[in-house]
Amino acid sequence: MSARCERPVAPILVRRPGPGTPVTVLGLARSGAAAARYLLQLGCAVRVTERTRSAAIEKAAQELEAAGALVEVGGHSPEFVEGSQLMVLSPGAPMSAPPVLWARRHGIPIVGELELGSWYCTGRLVAVTGSNGKSTVVSMLGRILQAAGQEVIVCGNIGTPLCSVLDRISPSTIVALEVSSFQLEPSLSFHTEIACVLNVTDNHLDRHGSFARYCAAKARLFAYQGPQSWAVLNADDPGSLGLSGKVLGQSAFFSRRRKVRGAFVRDGVLTLNLPPFSGPICEIDSLPRRGVHHEENALAAACIAGLLGVAPQGSGESISSFEGLPHRQQWVAQLRGVTFINDSKSTTVASGIRAIQAAPGPVVLIAGGRDKGGDFRQLRPLAKKLRAAVLIGEDGPKIAGCLKGSVPVRRAGDLEEAVETAFRMAQTGECVLLSPMCTSFDMFRDFEHRGERFVEVVRTMVA
Ligand code: ADP
Repeated sequence: MSARCERPVAPILVRRPGPGTPVTVLGLARSGAAAARYLLQLGCAVRVTERTRSAAIEKAAQELEAAGALVEVGGHSPEFVEGSQLMVLSPGAPMSAPPVLWARRHGIPIVGELELGSWYCTGRLVAVTGSNGKSTVVSMLGRILQAAGQEVIVCGNIGTPLCSVLDRISPSTIVALEVSSFQLEPSLSFHTEIACVLNVTDNHLDRHGSFARYCAAKARLFAYQGPQSWAVLNADDPGSLGLSGKVLGQSAFFSRRRKVRGAFVRDGVLTLNLPPFSGPICEIDSLPRRGVHHEENALAAACIAGLLGVAPQGSGESISSFEGLPHRQQWVAQLRGVTFINDSKSTTVASGIRAIQAAPGPVVLIAGGRDKGGDFRQLRPLAKKLRAAVLIGEDGPKIAGCLKGSVPVRRAGDLEEAVETAFRMAQTGECVLLSPMCTSFDMFRDFEHRGERFVEVVRTMVA
């Protein structure tokens, strides 16, 4: 049942870098720095070019220079690219960045940090992508595999670059990779033994330009898989299922609605159907959190684990004890009958809708920030459950425009004011839900900073 990693069906057109190979790394955040460090370890002649300048960037630049790299920060110059035999792209750098265009003009191959890491990874690669739920599913999968006695490393877009953990990986390690669409954009040969697309809904349209291009980036996950490898698709999600025509290997599915080869729900029981690994995983009632997407995530994780040889009951035990990650529909407190929920990681309309649907009562929503191109009119049919909205940030007015006439809307200058306003509007039995459906970068360092601030404000009110 469990296939080993295979060679790609398409040949790797790029010669893997070795001692002396000139390589340019574009971007000096976490992934770029990890790629540069690994390339130095290989003995390559490494140049790093970074558009921005900050204390953290300067520090990383100094460290890499000390290790032998040539680094420029605060802008890009063509000399840093010309003469390279390979460009490694950080996920933060778009394909339209000038150094990418220069590299293309000179015929220099471009790969992402993840692909570079995959060339030197001796373990078994499993990838999870999707618009929402990636971190949750790879974390759950990590728990399941660990409990089943497998050696596992969870990395990728979740925060630990693959290149930074290569030294800890052996052929028996299962590498559970969270993969974003940005990481798939520059793929030339990237492939994994198992590749799962959880869902595909509007996301990052600000960068990809169109939904079709965003889907095309996700589809690249299957582009170089061999016939023995597996694609895992969500049979209930048109975006995920729509990619089935791109699958070159074997397919497994998960579904809440119908029996599929993979994982599905039968009479309230999550069930694995991957002979010889078939049988009950766990009851829906035993899941620590309520909501459609919690069931979907559990089915996806159990399906992948099943393909890796984990028996359904084993997966079920780990899933039932997985409380979820912070900042994803995290219960924070209750005050005078009002429940506060922190869903700061929500940066898409789809995740906001799921959070509203899953909330244990009518919702006063706090949303807004920097929009990624989502269609907020999709919230209007939820007016029954969504009692009111308090909007913050750069694109608060855009959301207000979409909600006008369907639910009462207020504006707030900052998160503190938003929490106070939402609490005043909420009645006993209702929820104040922070589910921004936007990125946090207009007001906060990142989603964690935004969620921590929310929790802090709520706890101060409760104290
Ligand atoms: P990602 O890594 O894809 O951003 P996370 O697991 O961090 O996903 O969750 C991000 C947001 O999406 C949270 O608001 C979470 O509640 C919501 N979410 C999690 N799983 C799903 C899913 N399967 N479908 C829709 N939303 C989801």
